[in-house]
Amino acid sequence: MRKTILAALAAIGLQTGQAAAQDVLPGHVDPAPVLDAVAKAMGVDKLRCVSFAGTAYAGQVGQNITQDTDWPLGEPLEEYERTIDFDRKSSVERFTREPGMNPASWKYGPGWRGGTPLQENERQAFAVSGEHAWYVDGHGSEPVPAPTSAELWQLDIWMTPHGFMKAARLPEAHTTAIWRWELGESGRDGATTSDIAKVIVLSATVLGRYRVNATVRAGNLIQRTQTRVPHPVLGDMNYEHEFTEWKDLGNGVVFPAGWHHHDGWDDERQVPLLSGGHNSFGGTFPRMRMNDCEPVAVPDSVLGAARPPSAVDVQELAHGAWLLGGTSHNSAAIEFKDFVAVVEAPLNERRSLAVIERIVELVPDKPIRYLINTHAHYDHLGGLRTYLHIGATILTHQRNRLFYESELLNYEPRTLQPDMVSLHPPTEISEGYTIEDVDEKYILGDGERFLEIYYVQGIGTHVEGMLMAYLPKERIIIEGDLYDPGLLPKEHARPTETERAFFRNVEQNRLQPLLVAPIHGAAVSWEEFLNETVQDGIEE
Ligand SMILES: [Zn+2]
Ligand SMILES: [Zn+2]
Repeated sequence: MRKTILAALAAIGLQTGQAAAQDVLPGHVDPAPVLDAVAKAMGVDKLRCVSFAGTAYAGQVGQNITQDTDWPLGEPLEEYERTIDFDRKSSVERFTREPGMNPASWKYGPGWRGGTPLQENERQAFAVSGEHAWYVDGHGSEPVPAPTSAELWQLDIWMTPHGFMKAARLPEAHTTAIWRWELGESGRDGATTSDIAKVIVLSATVLGRYRVNATVRAGNLIQRTQTRVPHPVLGDMNYEHEFTEWKDLGNGVVFPAGWHHHDGWDDERQVPLLSGGHNSFGGTFPRMRMNDCEPVAVPDSVLGAARPPSAVDVQELAHGAWLLGGTSHNSAAIEFKDFVAVVEAPLNERRSLAVIERIVELVPDKPIRYLINTHAHYDHLGGLRTYLHIGATILTHQRNRLFYESELLNYEPRTLQPDMVSLHPPTEISEGYTIEDVDEKYILGDGERFLEIYYVQGIGTHVEGMLMAYLPKERIIIEGDLYDPGLLPKEHARPTETERAFFRNVEQNRLQPLLVAPIHGAAVSWEEFLNETVQDGIEE
């Protein structure tokens, strides 16, 4: 192997000082011969489409128990198969996964997409064709358009080794190449390199805006592709695929049977960041086939689907207290004498701005002074910066403070999808009152109305650092992920771990709620909570 790459490097002038053309900058090499060598070694031009099958796993991105740990492993992806058609710009993935707590829109990757209920059936399909994306929960079910995922799923096609090479040789890719010594790299699915090796990194613009790096290792195979993608919580988030176990498909084509994927930095030491999630997909796909693909028909219901407007439904819970729903996650707004407090800033900035505009209609001319965040799962965090921007102080459990301060409430530029903070940086980040942490109990009040905020003890494996909020006069409790009224499949064992914790924390704080206002689902009475969840008694 070593000999092969040295020969390749020599051939492109790296070993001699005479170096390539004069317009190649120091540290760089001429990309053209590298592209040629890699295209030949992998059989890029002979591969029009590829199908592969095997077993896979997926990490639940943004759902870690503590911020410094990896994404939790979701239910295994069994009978996994995927077909990527480079000519037709399509990819279809199918797998079998236990229904249950997974949102139906959960592929591996960026987690919960708005507006989707929990997965109900075993067989899942996720597809992209050109600019259209969709998923299907169960055989013969109605396809659900996923317009906001189309670009990312296209990007995945062009981040496969062959996809990258097809994209990198287009003139608009402006491909460059650099050289470096790589010290070795290992991961959950085994070492991709175990020895110091001289590598070339090709860098190309893909889909007009993603600068994708591809590391070329010995034998002129692509070992890794890396770029950044926009993420509502992490900003310009690291996104990479690693490839191992190359198989000969015949006719000069090789393709990797081993895949590994990161969302976030593979950052075991958490330097300089706190967030530790990274392993989001992996698998081994020994069964492969090439150039045997049918065109993928985009379902009619998907063809016409535009990105839906962010509808905000308002339900009055009590005088001056509202639940703002209309999608997969609610927020609650509570009016005080001089200010408004909001519980939860879920999903993303688009959603949060829609909710904020609605609150302003309900309560004109009072500042939204506080945003209470129930916990640090990313689907509950995407609007934190938005609320900071309109003047709110973030209230969260002390467990989350460092993570929020270092990675969310900061001036780091977000270039791929700039948000309000990035576009119009507020002075408060450097000199304001941006975050308040809660240890056990915290009360917001104006002398008339009180909102009590409680730490939820002993919640189990869902997350650390959970808060719930209680209006004692109105007897309304606001909670996220402890109890999702009516959303769990019928066959799921009740009460769940979080439902038990919810009940216990209400009891031990001597709260007497009449109404449960959830972040997921519709508001229900406390009695309905007991009816829905108690099967063998909730006390134990
Ligand atoms: Zn959660
Ligand atoms: Zn949730």
